Amino acid sequence: MKQELKTCQNCKKEFVIEPDDFDFYQKIKVPPPTWCPECRFKRQSLFRNEMTLYSRKCDFCKRSIISIYNPKSPYFVYCSECWHSDKWDPFSFGQDYNPRRPFFEQLKELLLRAPKEATYSSSFSKNINSEYINFAGSKEGMKNCYLVFNAGDCEDVMYSRGIRGARDTLDTYYGTKLERCYEIVNVEESTGIIFGQNVSGSLDSIFVLNARGCQNCFGCVNLRYKNYHFFNEPLSKEEYKKRVSEIMGSYQKMQKARKRFEEFALKFPRRENNNLKTVNSSGEFLFETKNVNQSFEITQAENCKYLFFAKGAKESYDVIGFGYDSEFLLGTVSVGYSSRVIGSSSCDNSQNIEYCFGMKMSEHCLGCDGLKNAKYAILNKRYEKDEYQKIRAQIVDELKEKNLYGLSMPPELAPFAYNEAIGQDNLPLAKEEALAQGFRWEEDIQKTMDKETMKPEQIPDNIKDVPDNIVDEILVCITCGRNYKIIKPELVFYRKMVLPVPRQCFNCRHIDRIRRRGPFKLYSRKCAKCGKAIQTTYAPDRPEIVYCETCYLKEVV
Ligand SMILES: [Zn+2]
Ligand SMILES: [Zn+2]
Ligand SMILES: [Zn+2]
Ligand SMILES: [Zn+2]
Repeated sequence: MKQELKTCQNCKKEFVIEPDDFDFYQKIKVPPPTWCPECRFKRQSLFRNEMTLYSRKCDFCKRSIISIYNPKSPYFVYCSECWHSDKWDPFSFGQDYNPRRPFFEQLKELLLRAPKEATYSSSFSKNINSEYINFAGSKEGMKNCYLVFNAGDCEDVMYSRGIRGARDTLDTYYGTKLERCYEIVNVEESTGIIFGQNVSGSLDSIFVLNARGCQNCFGCVNLRYKNYHFFNEPLSKEEYKKRVSEIMGSYQKMQKARKRFEEFALKFPRRENNNLKTVNSSGEFLFETKNVNQSFEITQAENCKYLFFAKGAKESYDVIGFGYDSEFLLGTVSVGYSSRVIGSSSCDNSQNIEYCFGMKMSEHCLGCDGLKNAKYAILNKRYEKDEYQKIRAQIVDELKEKNLYGLSMPPELAPFAYNEAIGQDNLPLAKEEALAQGFRWEEDIQKTMDKETMKPEQIPDNIKDVPDNIVDEILVCITCGRNYKIIKPELVFYRKMVLPVPRQCFNCRHIDRIRRRGPFKLYSRKCAKCGKAIQTTYAPDRPEIVYCETCYLKEVV
């Protein structure tokens, strides 16, 4: 097959289907898409709410719980304990398929009747004292964690997303094997890193960008195996300690140092991407991938395209989240340990599943919700194998005819509004844009306003002057005006690490880290040194100096 230029059925922009893509669609027996990759991502993103949490009641045991489903949404929501239990039978929601009505209309009715799990946890999550977490746990549990999302094997971690193996760490975006870290983006195997980005194997350093094997560095860019450096200049141990101790702990001085560091960093070249050990791959934050393209935050994957935040997937397209040990996924969200799954969300350990939600250990199911150990089921009703295949063929024909087979479920079936889900982090839209594109918008995201008992200017500048009872105060975010609190273990952390109390709420701090991370979108531009064509997340109009990998390594290592 040759490369083909198509017009997106949704946004009318042109997009390309490559020869490799046709091979994939042929293997998985799905027609090539009529929607462009960006429209497909937005549509899919409506099925993954990572961080918007609500207080509500479990509709089964009536306990007060934390949930990703707004209490005003039409869904029945069970706490994880009730949802995973045998106290209810998902087959009791079974419906007959009516060939005279659109399939997705019938699936919508089922989705509205079958209960949803309050927050996402896999079949084997073992989490301790960690109620405010979502998409977290998996085989390695979470202990004493608070507002942690898309994570595993963490202890004493708060306000973080996308991390594995972290201890005693706050405010992180994407990292592994961390200890005593704060305000970091893409850091691995490091301890004591504060305001660090793209850092590995480093220790006790503050405001560092692209550092490896560094210790006691402050305000440094592109350094390797250095100790006691201040804005890339070597200092004596005593002088370094003196200068750093004059800044640490003070909100004003830290802000000033951050500004100086951000201006300083613009003078140095950046690498086109932060990929490591990749073969024939394109994207950002890729590790050990082969033939993985247009993908972001991916570990150990092969022959995949358009993947976001996944690990261990093979032969898969359009995947958001999870992916572990899976192959032939298409249009899936939070699906792992599975093979040949199409257009489904929140499923694990399943095979040959299409347009399903919340399935565990099931195979050959179409349009089902919340089944465990099921086989040959449609709309939560069991069939004999022959009957199943006959009805499935009818439904697949209908979806193919409408150019819907291979896409995720339509937005009308999505449980989340655009601004509750991960699309808003990665392709942000204004309310009017989201509505115009056919997505819902949630006005009533739970938050408190105007309840503050302490104004930002009343917070002592230096952490050493902050009293114990700040944990009883209600603070107000200087950026969005939302109220937030400092919790006890958080104050202990700030004191230990000599960090000022943050003046922004958790949400604004997260948005700031996303801004530091850059967009998950690839732009074509030229290496500022050799002029070679590169694909990078730095848009051509950005002020950073961007080098191809070869030129960057010549300069830095
Ligand atoms: Zn489009
Ligand atoms: Zn319950
Ligand atoms: Zn805020
Ligand atoms: Zn170059």
